[in-house]
Amino acid sequence: MANHLHQRDLPEGVDLGPVVAIDCETMGLHPHRDRLCLVQLSGGDGHAHLVQVAVGQTEAPNLSRLLTDTSILKLFHYGRFDIAVLHNTFGALAAPVYCTKIASRLVRTYTDRHGLRNLVQDLLGSDLSKQQQSSDWGTPELSRAQIDYAASDVLHLHRLRDMLDGMLAREGRGDLAQACFDFLPTRARLDLAGWPETDIFAHS
Ligand code: MN
Repeated sequence: MANHLHQRDLPEGVDLGPVVAIDCETMGLHPHRDRLCLVQLSGGDGHAHLVQVAVGQTEAPNLSRLLTDTSILKLFHYGRFDIAVLHNTFGALAAPVYCTKIASRLVRTYTDRHGLRNLVQDLLGSDLSKQQQSSDWGTPELSRAQIDYAASDVLHLHRLRDMLDGMLAREGRGDLAQACFDFLPTRARLDLAGWPETDIFAHS
């Protein structure tokens, strides 16, 4: 397994295939306040590409092209946040998307353990480290531990999707999941536009 660290954008010509797992590391959980620091991508082959984002950077043309390429499925865990952050930073709205957290909520109704580490443990039987989760992702020199941690967040999503798709099909909820994935970019836009907590479908 090799992890490739790139500055500011994916290199020209990198082809990650038709399904790309994506995760973001930021300075915090408020998309308008906390800047994007790192974008991790994997084509599901055990390799991760990490793109370091500079302070004030607003463009990453190769990455943005991938995000908006309708022939490439973007695979997230809790995509709602990452899609919002990527859109806020680069102006590119990711679509089509898949979210392993939504899939898990729709089909693993016997548990409330829907975190990435829970899914990796329960469905794939391996343990993911939580160690660097709250580290300083804004540092210009990422440590080996940070790089490995960040990469591990995208290296399991393809296999998780396979497992979850099997369960969704078994329970007859595949089309419901798809409809949720189709709406997810819009949900992210609502977060950015000022309705982060409001359920716009609620009566009151
Ligand atoms: Mn992460």
